[in-house]
Amino acid sequence: MSAKNRVSLYLVLLALTLMLASSHLLRSDAVPVQAVLTLDCREGYMLTAGELPPEGVRRSFDRDALFRGKLLYVSAENPLPADLPVQQSRDVRSLVGLYIPAAAHVSLSEETIYALCDLTAQNPLLSTWIMVGMRSPGEQAALQKAAFAAYQATLPVSEALQKATRDIPDSGGSEHQLATSFDLRLDGAQDWSQPDPMARTADGRWLLDHGWEYGFIRRYPPEKAALTGVANEALHWRFVGRLHALVMHAADWCLEEYLQALHAYGALRLQTPSGADAWILCQPLTDAAAFPIPQEAEWEVSADNQGWAVCAYWMDQSSF
Ligand SMILES: [Zn+2]
Repeated sequence: MSAKNRVSLYLVLLALTLMLASSHLLRSDAVPVQAVLTLDCREGYMLTAGELPPEGVRRSFDRDALFRGKLLYVSAENPLPADLPVQQSRDVRSLVGLYIPAAAHVSLSEETIYALCDLTAQNPLLSTWIMVGMRSPGEQAALQKAAFAAYQATLPVSEALQKATRDIPDSGGSEHQLATSFDLRLDGAQDWSQPDPMARTADGRWLLDHGWEYGFIRRYPPEKAALTGVANEALHWRFVGRLHALVMHAADWCLEEYLQALHAYGALRLQTPSGADAWILCQPLTDAAAFPIPQEAEWEVSADNQGWAVCAYWMDQSSF
């Protein structure tokens, strides 16, 4: 073989080796490319899924910090852990009773009460009562026992027990174990033509239109009963914070839909008509979770009590 042929053969072999190596690299190291999706949402908002978040400082959060967050999902099938960090709460009437009446012994987290102060400062809800706030495990058990006693008067014991545990979840299975959930009673003039109890009063309709602006969600909307599994809590509300409430409002999602989207996409980005830019990142939770958060961002984190951790951050609080 001539020297020239040897060089040609060598070059061909080299090219083949490089091709094989690069195809191997592509196979083994390739990051699955996830298409960026633009999700349906209210006019003026832009919600995208699967976009790669910007670089940031990696911050770690332990389980305790995550379980103090505002996105814990609670249901009879998905009860809160027994070692849930203690929920701090205080009497609602001490702070906000002037603008929204509350029954005695209703307590909620300070953050929830401050958000109620903001809301009622804009629009006092004088014919709307907060009847139930946070319940201790003992109070939850007593409630279930009382329901069982009442049902037993008309039903066989086994049926009464079944109905009581369905209507009043065991301790840990009710959102009222959180200091952010509350039930309303709507007094005042009622429009009985409205099938939705929340829409029967002016206060109720105002809350449906504006509650999200202050970080509140209607937790179990009647039209989403198939998704939430709860049809008898039309007047139950929950404070989840401004950003999460805003995303759910923009996309018309209940909490279940929001969490499912986060599990599926890992990252959501919301841009609002006023120019606010927010990211919500989600990843499986083991003992801790770490998220890249840009230096200048404000952020908050939460476990979802379903095995995931969520980190939300936004660039400019004043813009939304
Ligand atoms: Zn409730």
